[in-house]
Amino acid sequence: MKRRDFIKNASLTGVGLTVGSSLLSCNENSSEKTKTNTIMALNDLKAPIAICTWGFVSANAKAGEELSKGIKALDAAIAGVSVEEDNIKNTTVGKGGAPDREGNVTLDACVMDSNGDCGSVVCVENITNVAALAKRVMTETPHVMLAGSGAEEFAYSQGFESDNLLTDSSKKVWEEWLKSPEYKPLINIENHDTIGMLCIDKDGDIAGACTTSGLSYKMKGRVGDSPIIGSGLFIDNDIGGAVGTGMGEEIMKTVGSFLIVELMRNGMSPQQACKEAVQRITRKNSHFKDFQIAYIAINKSGDVGSYCIHKGFTYMKYQNGKNENIHSDHYVKS
Ligand code: ASP
Repeated sequence: MKRRDFIKNASLTGVGLTVGSSLLSCNENSSEKTKTNTIMALNDLKAPIAICTWGFVSANAKAGEELSKGIKALDAAIAGVSVEEDNIKNTTVGKGGAPDREGNVTLDACVMDSNGDCGSVVCVENITNVAALAKRVMTETPHVMLAGSGAEEFAYSQGFESDNLLTDSSKKVWEEWLKSPEYKPLINIENHDTIGMLCIDKDGDIAGACTTSGLSYKMKGRVGDSPIIGSGLFIDNDIGGAVGTGMGEEIMKTVGSFLIVELMRNGMSPQQACKEAVQRITRKNSHFKDFQIAYIAINKSGDVGSYCIHKGFTYMKYQNGKNENIHSDHYVKS
């Protein structure tokens, strides 16, 4: 039995009362050992590191620059993803995102910090920087998730400004779609670019953010995986973090990001864990050729991995001042 398990069992059975002082000294030694291991891991780590889904060069560079200045992982991730939330040319994140089938742009986002705290907002209208809003839910309310008009009112109470998220060009494309509307909730292999970002700061702490307008022309009220803690994003600062993009319904059914972190806890590398999480989906869903799923993950040592169903998914990695776009391995080879 490992010392930690013995301590846990002893305190449950009362044995700890008789051997309390010797356990105390063992415990002190082991926490010293943990401290030394953490310092060694930090030396090996070459932090900071930022990774994000897709080719969001500027967003990832922004996060990397913030981390290099000593900004903590969560704030760096939020600063990074907000570059895309503000980018009106990006039609699946923030302002300029594609609307639902009734013409309303509704955004979803979540954040998770290295201490396990998290915040989320779903189906929010008229607010651009929803990842920052999700952080406010985390820090300024006793809750994890706020939805719809409640989230919007909370945003105003926090000083966020109202904005029209439907740009002229998104409106035009939606009006074209309306001419022959077909409700096919399938995510086209290229047409989705939720930004999910994972950062390790100079202290070796991990945090992340995920933000999207979701499926284009979705049903009113539809929410995907992106704001769901454990599906679109999950962090365990002892182990690592993961984020997903693609067909949110399939990610939710397998609680994909949580699964990846748990697989890493059990010894898999980020790469192996992402692959296994994708294969949980492809094994059970015979329609996997019709949609894309992609994951990226990072572990406590700064190792990075990624896997997706179809060729074409790339991710960004910032480390040592270098910001590179990397092609992910994929399941469908032909
Ligand atoms: N995962 C997102 C959703 O299902 C879509 C995406 O990644 O583009 O809402």
